[in-house]
Amino acid sequence: MPSINFLITLSLCIILIERKVISKELQCKDKVIIVGAGLSGLAAGQKLQKAGCDVVIIEGSERIGGRIKSEIISQDVAIDLGASWIGGTGKDFDMGAKQKYYQHQKGELDIDQSDLNQYIKLLKNYLKSHLTLATDQTSLEDIFRNFTVKSSRVNLKSYKNFSQSFIYGFKNAADSDQLSAKYVLSKLLFIGKDHVVEGGFQKITDQLSKELKIILRKQVVEIDYLNDLITIKTTDGEVYQANKVIVTVPLGILKSKEILFNPPLIQSKLESIEKLGSGIMDKLFLEFDHVFWDQNSTWFNHISDKGLKWIITANLFKYTGKPILMMFNIGREAIAFSEQSDERVLASAIWVKFP
Ligand SMILES: Cc1cc2nc3c(=O)[nH]c(=O)nc-3n(C[C@H](O)[C@H](O)[C@H](O)COP(=O)(O)OP(=O)(O)OC[C@H]3O[C@@H](n4cnc5c(N)ncnc54)[C@H](O)[C@@H]3O)c2cc1C
Repeated sequence: MPSINFLITLSLCIILIERKVISKELQCKDKVIIVGAGLSGLAAGQKLQKAGCDVVIIEGSERIGGRIKSEIISQDVAIDLGASWIGGTGKDFDMGAKQKYYQHQKGELDIDQSDLNQYIKLLKNYLKSHLTLATDQTSLEDIFRNFTVKSSRVNLKSYKNFSQSFIYGFKNAADSDQLSAKYVLSKLLFIGKDHVVEGGFQKITDQLSKELKIILRKQVVEIDYLNDLITIKTTDGEVYQANKVIVTVPLGILKSKEILFNPPLIQSKLESIEKLGSGIMDKLFLEFDHVFWDQNSTWFNHISDKGLKWIITANLFKYTGKPILMMFNIGREAIAFSEQSDERVLASAIWVKFP
């Protein structure tokens, strides 16, 4: 147990260190332009402005938030069309929370959770023990191709489908053959339960944007950083200048080369942009007159040995008090549904979930 003196000295040290950091930060005299007013751009903007920089954010669309967008629906409830969860900071909405399982035409399944947990544990261990064999080209699907468990008690094909997608697919919004086995575990930075913002994630982006100078509807097409004064051009021919530029546009924009960098980005960055892929996740919100499902379950999982449609559904009643379900698709299923009419998507969701 440290003595009181030691604690006082320690806290003084912390104050001194903080002062040093703050005074160093306050020396920022740069004019900084940030391209993109999503969470990354807004968070960077707020930090830099606090540190004394002269910050301007240039956003291509007519709104801030990027992939964070909350909407109030008919019962005064905010739903998140984009991101919902803040990883590892929260107290509820845990992936491990109470779950129920369904199978088409069989209705609710009496799955022994400990059986499934055991299966998932074996799957995870199998991946870990095979990681040394994985190259940059090895997909998760390659690794799991030969994964088998001998059991007469469970439908192993549907367990395999579900577990791969539940554990790895949904975290990365991609199918197993699109995920790198070697790097799929390296994302586990935020361990612990997730947090959901009451009233919608957009509350955070709105708050971050409050003191910031943001120019909307200006799509950046060129960044010239040959000289100390960096020049930025937008589609309407406007020119902006800054000492420092932060680019926060999504990977897809960088891949499409919509922004011309002069000089071109360095080779290692270009290679990373080319090699990395983006996940795809679609959400469907279903609002009913009343709750007819188990109010206490957080997740309703669709177990099937035929594909991965709508495998997870979140019970938003638990968090909003309103009869709303949030359903998901990822990867190929998400792409397939994005091309269908709302009526067909709805029919498919209802068919899967409530046969
Ligand atoms: C459906 C869905 C669910 C998700 N769920 C979660 C979740 O639960 N938890 C989680 O942590 N993450 C989740 N994510 C991911 C998360 O939303 C993103 O990682 C995060 O919002 C990205 O923020 P960003 O600022 O880096 O990029 P973005 O939000 O994409 O912001 C980039 C901004 O740049 C702008 N822009 C693009 N091109 C230009 C240009 N040429 N000139 C000027 N501006 C430009 C865009 O309009 C956009 O506003 C989800 C994503 C989706 C789509």
